[in-house]
Amino acid sequence: MLYKSDDKSKHTELQLPGFSTELETLEIPQYTLPQKPLDAQTVYHLIKDELLDEGVARHNLATFCQTSMEEEATRLMSEMLEKNAIDKSEYPRTAEIESHCVNMIASLWNAPASENYLGTSTVGSSEACMLGGIALKFNWRARAEAAGVAVQAQKPNLVISAGYQVCWEKFAVYFDIELRAVPLDEAHLGLDLRAVLDYVDDYTIGVVGILGQTYTGCYDDIQGLNALLETYNQTAQVSVPLHVDAASGGLFTPFVEPERLWDFRLSQVVSINTSGHKYGLVYPGVGWIVWRGERYLPKELIFNVSYLGGTMPTMAINFSRSASQIIGQYYNFLRFGFEGYRRIHTNTQKVALFLSGVLAETGYFRLYNDGSHLPVVCFALKEDAEVLWSLYDLSDRMQMKGWQIPTYPLPAALDDVIIQRYVCRADLEYNMAEELAEDLRQALEELNHAHVLRTAPPTNKISGFTH
Ligand SMILES: *Cc1c(COP(=O)(O)O)cnc(C)c1O
Repeated sequence: MLYKSDDKSKHTELQLPGFSTELETLEIPQYTLPQKPLDAQTVYHLIKDELLDEGVARHNLATFCQTSMEEEATRLMSEMLEKNAIDKSEYPRTAEIESHCVNMIASLWNAPASENYLGTSTVGSSEACMLGGIALKFNWRARAEAAGVAVQAQKPNLVISAGYQVCWEKFAVYFDIELRAVPLDEAHLGLDLRAVLDYVDDYTIGVVGILGQTYTGCYDDIQGLNALLETYNQTAQVSVPLHVDAASGGLFTPFVEPERLWDFRLSQVVSINTSGHKYGLVYPGVGWIVWRGERYLPKELIFNVSYLGGTMPTMAINFSRSASQIIGQYYNFLRFGFEGYRRIHTNTQKVALFLSGVLAETGYFRLYNDGSHLPVVCFALKEDAEVLWSLYDLSDRMQMKGWQIPTYPLPAALDDVIIQRYVCRADLEYNMAEELAEDLRQALEELNHAHVLRTAPPTNKISGFTH
């Protein structure tokens, strides 16, 4: 967030906690640096108390991000916090671990070794998408110039479903690209394959397929998209490559539906990103991007950092950051292996299916995603539900019971549909899901008997669902 000088809350000073050993009551300024140091214990408690009412992370069904890791992983990561991921020379073993992870992910995504794939860790999918997008832009320019297209005559564009995550809008604004959003296909809630080629021209740097749209968890038909582009590229003056934004599906689908074709097995896929901190099961922030081959990552985008007396190529927007998330990713890969990830994700999927079953049973909801692919449950109130309450009221009721569950409108052209979404993660265990189901039944009962004040139709609100 960007903060302004007038964003200060009313209480500009902290009081020492009641159990403090300090006898005098100190007032600690919050918007200017305190003059004197405080002892570590006091500050620890002070800040811990300040953060107390933020809700239980495991009850937060709004986020795709990991909210629980094993004790050994957490310990290992906290012991490695000081390692700077960019200092390849000082921490060569850490650099080696990053390379192990890239190779593991590339093989999980079936990158053909013959094409010399390459990849890197990032802070998250947002950075990875920026890197992927920049590579698409540079490659497009080279292809378009070679084909005699006047590259300055028009802004280059990127084609994506209207259900894109906000990072693509950032990419478009920051790097001066026209974002061409294809309205959602009502039948599939993904990229509309009947319309997508209408948005493509000689200025298109690439098309993005999304493996798990943030709004609904539904998959774009990436295999279908690949077939369309394969045909288009046979006669195109400037060919159009495919990038897959697999922020949530990239470390889920290969374990649960290995036969689904969405990755480098498809001929037009040149790069794929994922968030290690979503279904890669690592705390935020780590992401990954892999390019199918060296020729898809233009040389001018690669910068060298020193490494053991020589240099090592890197591609990143950020420079310094802790390596502990990379180490956490490696821990999970070693600890769970393919079978472990498969078991964990399959259990999460069972939980999602259980919850969508409970929701369906109530009779009030129309399911948009029952969790049978990505374990995301997404539903709207049926038009004939004949209730006075809205999904926003239901979110509020569930929040009273501690659950954070977002309600928001879908993107164009379905923006008159209000949905509610449960993102199921590994730490939403079956027992917890049963409690959630019980709380839901109670909330519905309460709402049906509540005195609901309705003076106007509920306005569309947006709550934190984008991650
Ligand atoms: C979450 C998400 C992103 C952004 O990922 P971060 O790792 O939070 O930066 C991008 N695309 C999609 C489809 C997402 O779901």
